[in-house]
Amino acid sequence: MVFPDAKTGIIAILGHPVHYSLSPVIHNTALQKQGLNYVYVAIDLAPDRVSQAVRGLNALGFAGANVTIPHKQAVLPHMDSLSDTARAIGAVNTIVCKENQLYGDNTDIEGFLAPLKDLELHGAPMTLLGAGGAARAAAYGLLRDYSPNPLTLVARRVDQAEKLADDFSAFGGHLEVCDFDTASRYIRESRLIVNCTPIGMYPNVQETPWEQKEDFAPGQIVYDLVYRPYRTRLIQEAAHRGSVTIGGLTMLIEQAAAAYRQWTDRDMPVDVVHDTLAKLFTT
Ligand code: NAP
Repeated sequence: MVFPDAKTGIIAILGHPVHYSLSPVIHNTALQKQGLNYVYVAIDLAPDRVSQAVRGLNALGFAGANVTIPHKQAVLPHMDSLSDTARAIGAVNTIVCKENQLYGDNTDIEGFLAPLKDLELHGAPMTLLGAGGAARAAAYGLLRDYSPNPLTLVARRVDQAEKLADDFSAFGGHLEVCDFDTASRYIRESRLIVNCTPIGMYPNVQETPWEQKEDFAPGQIVYDLVYRPYRTRLIQEAAHRGSVTIGGLTMLIEQAAAAYRQWTDRDMPVDVVHDTLAKLFTT
């Protein structure tokens, strides 16, 4: 165990509220495993203090930070430079402090795409359920890397999905928008279906974003961004129908690993972190 001392590097997650965050467990597990002299803390940051806090990161000698709801957009104008992904989706989840400069990145896309990398998906029909922040990252990643045909955005507020489709129409692929009542046809025809809503998340584990489980079939991939519980009702029902399933824990860990690499120049021991979190969720 590395005990914090006068040389300890500090990394924080900035959110409001932030007490639910798993990022301290993820990063401190990895840092301890690799014997790196950093500590990762959660800071509850009120929205009216974002600018002061972000500007203070360099002054206080922080190595970097993660940013979560509701500050991912608000920190963006305070960055000295941005990655292409952060600029494209208009949100920062990772800040790197270096030479008195703040670099803003968004590792959610890398995390989201990680479990898809060995699958043959180019040009395939795909559907996203939900049109919020996570759907934005997912849509950008899928349009950029797979040119889905079509990518259907399903939302209870269709105007929210239309806005997302408008923002990303320049990235290619073919975009469709619909509500939940008319989405069945798209779900049945999709090779990849992603739940980007919080439906089914603990403690509402009896809920599912897609009640018509007969729409799932072998040959489909059902990806739930919800990571608690470890196997959501959606994942259980899709697996029962013979679909390949992906739970949200991999994305959570891979987006963290992509940030960790930038702060420490080391690869996160993802298997160790995965085992720690999986145990946390099954107890
Ligand atoms: P968000 O910005 O609040 O967006 C949620 C979306 O789901 C919105 O379109 C919302 O519609 C819709 N929605 C919520 N409740 C609904 C319902 N009962 N019926 C239909 N649509 C509903 O949240 P987010 O940041 O995108 O996160 C979404 C989920 O993904 C959360 O569970 C989050 O934990 C998970 N997530 C996981 C990871 C990971 O690493 N695995 C990363 C990011 C997010 P309205 O706007 O109309 O409410």
